[in-house]
Amino acid sequence: MADAPTPSADDAANPTGAGVPAGRAAAQPAIRQGSAVPVDISQRRLNETEFDQPIASLGGFASGFGMTFATMFKKVYTQQYPFEVFPTAPRYHGRHVLNRHPDGLEKCIGCELCAWACPADAIYVEGGDNTDTERFSPGERYGKVYQINYLRCIFCGLCVEACPTRSLTMSNEYELALDNRQDLIYTKEQLMAPLLPGMEAPPHPMRLGDDEAAYYTPRKDEGAPQSAANVAGKPIVASAIEVGGHHG
Ligand code: SF4
Ligand code: SF4
Repeated sequence: MADAPTPSADDAANPTGAGVPAGRAAAQPAIRQGSAVPVDISQRRLNETEFDQPIASLGGFASGFGMTFATMFKKVYTQQYPFEVFPTAPRYHGRHVLNRHPDGLEKCIGCELCAWACPADAIYVEGGDNTDTERFSPGERYGKVYQINYLRCIFCGLCVEACPTRSLTMSNEYELALDNRQDLIYTKEQLMAPLLPGMEAPPHPMRLGDDEAAYYTPRKDEGAPQSAANVAGKPIVASAIEVGGHHG
């Protein structure tokens, strides 16, 4: 029996034999053509699972379509959003609110702790100094510039945890889709809680006492802080605003 031809360097570089002189290609037809083993489709074995066990196959079909059939009669939970807007879970993390003290002064003291805590670098704060003639918050400092970039925010709530005055909380508002990027950077004016009855727009003197301790000392008549759900898609309402009650 003749020895099988040993592949040469030419074979490795050109396994299909393209461009090889006719004499050499004829001498090694099986190696050069690359399809030495002919395939006879009629000899292929049929799938035994499908054709030798028809009962088992029918059972699989029935099981699959049974699930589809049973699902057709289940209660449909489709919500017709945005035509119908439902309240979220009470502790849903929606867009932020900058809260006020009961006299209307701002709780934010411009400390920037929220910005440092933010893992997405979504908050920008610049503090300013209060003066006797122009006071925005109790104490020395207030948040002069405050921005939250909702293109970055992941609604983790770490900024809320970091805030020492409970100025920053989150509402249930989640409709934050817009057609441009600039409007998704919310400014202090957009984030500030609206003035509730009895509040006065800053700047104004401290109404609750002569020093800031009056704002951070619990009062017996104060009750629990307000911080409840509001309805998504609506303006931030009073029940989502936290007034007083936090002295952390
Ligand atoms: S919720 Fe999280 S990501 Fe969003 S501003 Fe606060 S800390 Fe940053
Ligand atoms: S929101 Fe709170 S943590 Fe952020 S700057 Fe104001 S007081 Fe500081």
